[in-house]
Amino acid sequence: MKLDYIKRSCKTNRQAILDKALIEELEYLRKKCFPHQKKSFLWEDFEIREKVFDKEDKTDTLGLYVWDEGNLKHIIYITKIYIWGSQKLHQSWQRKIYYNKIKMVIRHELIHCFVKEQWEYKCKRFITDKNVDASPIFLAVLQFVDGYTGHDCYKGYMKTELYKRIQNNEFKTYKKLHDYLADYLWEFTEAIEKIKKISNQDRFIKQEDKNYFTITNEFKFAPRKNGLDKFMEVNYIDVYTKDKETRKQIMINRTWNIGCNIEPKDLIKLYNKKQDCQAQYYNNIKNLIIMPVCANVEDMNAKDIRTISIKNDKNF
Ligand SMILES: [Zn+2]
Repeated sequence: MKLDYIKRSCKTNRQAILDKALIEELEYLRKKCFPHQKKSFLWEDFEIREKVFDKEDKTDTLGLYVWDEGNLKHIIYITKIYIWGSQKLHQSWQRKIYYNKIKMVIRHELIHCFVKEQWEYKCKRFITDKNVDASPIFLAVLQFVDGYTGHDCYKGYMKTELYKRIQNNEFKTYKKLHDYLADYLWEFTEAIEKIKKISNQDRFIKQEDKNYFTITNEFKFAPRKNGLDKFMEVNYIDVYTKDKETRKQIMINRTWNIGCNIEPKDLIKLYNKKQDCQAQYYNNIKNLIIMPVCANVEDMNAKDIRTISIKNDKNF
């Protein structure tokens, strides 16, 4: 009995447990998504390691996914507590419970890898981060493979049409889900196209507007939250005088996070509602531009233009 305990709880056995669970999960997912096909579930390289999650990570972290860009490799970390449970507990049924917990965390992390490979490159100019925890694409694939997530955002996702369709077993195969999600993503890009760049350039050139503005919006799926969240805004205003009148040139760059309970049809409506909200991170810059007094524009020298900072207000 004692020898058995020493054997199963030795350090090298911990990695063996992870490797075994990983192979079992990869096979389960391959059969679920690509049945009757000789196709591996992931095509990039991957690695699994144990990790002691400390104060810097959230205390309830069970697993972590990292994409190693330099080596083009998926790295999965699993909490050491579960591995400890699956090798050191005395009763075999207790160890089995922990082994199954490891497999559920691995399944979740493997869906991060899979969605990165299958989805991240699609419509990338419009929206990024399809494989983060509150992305509807990530959650839909996770739900399809009976995966688990401990994140609160799931409650918001459960109210969506997408969740209900998967729950009602409308997609018999991954291919059918994939096609539905591709249309879903396309609907997002169509909405984003309308609000990606907003400017009064035409009116300004025709001199119908005296002030010029341009707003650039970048979209990502949200790492944690539901809803549409203005993550960052950088706001530049140049104030100058022309024909004895005060004029403004406004340039605004915003980054938005789209949470998992936002459906494509609601995006523009929500954007209009939230566009003037304060961003989580902001930088408001306002400068007064003083032009040199000279008769011709050609005589004007760039170094003679003076810039006086009126405001530089930032919280990051
Ligand atoms: Zn995750």
